[in-house]
Amino acid sequence: MEETVFDKIVRGEIPAHIIYEDDATVAFLDMTPVHKGHTLVVPKARCRNILDCPSETVGRVYQTAQKVAQHMKQALGADGVNVHGNNEPAAGQEVFYFHVHVIPRYENAQPFQKPTHEVYADGEMKAFAEKLSMK
Ligand code: AMP
Repeated sequence: MEETVFDKIVRGEIPAHIIYEDDATVAFLDMTPVHKGHTLVVPKARCRNILDCPSETVGRVYQTAQKVAQHMKQALGADGVNVHGNNEPAAGQEVFYFHVHVIPRYENAQPFQKPTHEVYADGEMKAFAEKLSMK
C-alpha cells in the first residue's frame, strides 16, 4: 500500500493538531473542516479503509470517534455531530489510510445536506433485501 500523509502524522513526521491519542488510535483536526473542530480519527496500525481493516481496528477507531464526538458536542456547544467514513474513491475517499470523520453540527449554521434518494420500483426492495441478506 502506498504511503499517505496520515502515515506521516501517526509517526509524528509532519505536524498535526492532535486532540487525542491512545495505544491504538490518534485523533487530529482536519485541515479543511466542514465546520471548525472537524476531526479525523485514524488507527496507528495502517490499513486502507473499513473494507480491509481488521474488525478490532475498526472497533477501536469507532470507540475513539464516540469519545471525540461526546467531548466535541460539549466543548464546542455543538447541537449534533456527524460521524462518517468514506471508503474507496466511489464513496469519496481521497486519503487511502482508514479514517473516520467527526464533524460538529449547529442548528443555525449551513444545514446538513442529506444525499438525494432513489425510489424502489414494486418488488425491488424485496430483491435488494434478498441480495444483501446475511441471515
Ligand atoms: P476523505 O475524502 O475521507 O479521504 O478525507 C480526507 C480528509 O483528510 C480531507 O477532509 C482532508 O481535508 C484531510 N486531510 C488531508 N491531509 C491532511 C493533513 N495533512 N492534516 C489534516 N487533514 C488532512
